Amino acid sequence: MKFNIAIDGPAGAGKSTIAKMLAERLGFVYIDTGAMYRAMAYYYMTKDIDIDDKDAVIAEFDNIGIELQYIDGVQHIFLNKEDVSSLIRTAEVGENASRVSAIAEVRKKLVALQQEIARSINVVMDGRDIGSVVLPDAELKIYLTASVEVRAQRRYKERIEKGQEADLAAIEEEIRQRDYRDMHRDASPLICVEDAVTVDSSYMTIEEVTERITDLAFEKGYQRD
Ligand code: C5P
Repeated sequence: MKFNIAIDGPAGAGKSTIAKMLAERLGFVYIDTGAMYRAMAYYYMTKDIDIDDKDAVIAEFDNIGIELQYIDGVQHIFLNKEDVSSLIRTAEVGENASRVSAIAEVRKKLVALQQEIARSINVVMDGRDIGSVVLPDAELKIYLTASVEVRAQRRYKERIEKGQEADLAAIEEEIRQRDYRDMHRDASPLICVEDAVTVDSSYMTIEEVTERITDLAFEKGYQRD
């Protein structure tokens, strides 16, 4: 039986951590759509192309090949055959991904790829427009959120743990700006669709959130074979 789970929500709500865990628990494939936008942004950054120059961005489409591969159960993202999985995890790439993702043509290209992947396998897909545009017929839709303060704290901790420099007030501001841009763009803004279940992870552990969504999947009729 086909069952897809769409998880949308703002930056730092814990989407990818939860989606990964959920996929493992249910035996689904996790698809990180943010990584695709990040890989696109990374391409333009390395080519020194101005992301706000829409025509220049579109003109490069034929030169950009994005692929997802699973190696030992872990998602890797390839940009023109180069594994860029760790290179795309910087704040700068995240910021540029948010800018490039506001271009409707970029979204069209990546949405087609995402829909193709979800056609034949059960997926947990996370992003901003999964329940609204990519998988409008997903069997379960989650809007995962948390307060700006909690999300900023999480990002701060992550960066400190990685040995990076971090300034809590600056991170909070970064998150507010990213939320604003993602929620107010013309092309598929981040919204909570009517048939999504909202989960506020501010005061929940990763385990509790995963448990809650797993329960919801069974409530919505998911059955293990
Ligand atoms: O989730 P992540 O931080 O990796 O996403 C980077 C950026 O890509 C987001 O801020 C958002 O602008 C964009 N994005 C999107 N649609 C998605 C996934 C990500 O617009 N489905």
